[in-house]
Amino acid sequence: MDLIPVMKPYLGDKEIAAAAAAISSGWVAQGPRVAEFEARFAEHVGAAAAVAVSSCTTGLHLLLHAHGIGAGDEVVVPSLSFIASSNAPRYVGARPVFADVERTTLNMTAASIEAVLTPHTSAVIAVHQIGMPLDLDPIRKLCDARDVLLIEDAACAIGSTYKGTLVGSGPNDAAFSFHPRKVLTTGEGGMITTNDPAFATRLRRLRQHAMSVSAHERHEADAPVIEAYPELGFNFRMTDIQAAIGLVQLAKLEAMVERRRELATAYTERLAAIAGLEVLRDPEYGTTNYQSYSVIIDDPYPLSRDELMTALHNEGIATRRGVMASHREPTFADDAHPVLPVTDYLADHTMILPLYHEMTESDVDRVVAAVATAAV
Ligand SMILES: *Cc1c(COP(=O)(O)O)cnc(C)c1O
Repeated sequence: MDLIPVMKPYLGDKEIAAAAAAISSGWVAQGPRVAEFEARFAEHVGAAAAVAVSSCTTGLHLLLHAHGIGAGDEVVVPSLSFIASSNAPRYVGARPVFADVERTTLNMTAASIEAVLTPHTSAVIAVHQIGMPLDLDPIRKLCDARDVLLIEDAACAIGSTYKGTLVGSGPNDAAFSFHPRKVLTTGEGGMITTNDPAFATRLRRLRQHAMSVSAHERHEADAPVIEAYPELGFNFRMTDIQAAIGLVQLAKLEAMVERRRELATAYTERLAAIAGLEVLRDPEYGTTNYQSYSVIIDDPYPLSRDELMTALHNEGIATRRGVMASHREPTFADDAHPVLPVTDYLADHTMILPLYHEMTESDVDRVVAAVATAAV
């Protein structure tokens, strides 16, 4: 019996050749391929500029730092997210404040954010959870009215759309992830998009120790250059080997998103016959890239989420629990938080089914049959 993994990156000979070419060139750290990846990514998403970083986590950290968020500030985030969303404010000395989410998209809403705003709120990190776009316009209106910074955690949302434009096209800054668990991968890596080219220049300096001149600029210069360090900076750089892989992946992105949506449609059609299973659909204002295919399991389905995960495991089918809830983790045990009923419900009742580019419709049939059989 073949095992069905929950996710498998779609990498091939072209990525291997591109990585090899970067190595052969002798320039393996951040250099011309990173610059090209940034330009292509910005062009693809429809943002004025893109800034490559070492991960989405460091991208969020850098954005908060560069926008001056720090001690005494509160940053609204969903607890229902990968823990990086909640940790980012802590890196700059700010306090994450958890907002609840809605069941239909797993995302925060303007109302759930408004419920936790205080005079200390300085920023909101709006997460497009598992690629499902959140309804940005009402959130933007709320933030603008209160002079609160809005940034997007688009870790999972490359290729998702909001009102006909790709997530990350602005006007807010957004951070993407290229971890293999996401749709487009460079092994590790991330990208910030912004509609402010001057701010992009500042982010590029801050990600490399705030050096006044980059290693590549110095290499290209026709006279020796002595750099300066005018402020605190970081090493959040991407390598040219990663960027070489990213350029190949970017060319495959539309096909990867299309295939994910086809397979998700196959799941949705087939799972409709099973009582007690609830699927996620596109909201009326946008489309998801189905970075993960998440289902809610509840009565009258006879097994609990954890029991179903075990049953599928025994059939050679890998699953994951649904999105985690940060407020339940020991690292946040000392923080007061509001009651989060939808978050708590979803953390206990959601599960992620296998979905990857090279999956077949008959693999989907096998997963759905196993879910149906486990119920009898
Ligand atoms: C994966 C993920 C991150 C972290 O991305 P890295 O590139 O691994 O740092 C942040 N936020 C969300 C919502 C994620 O799913």
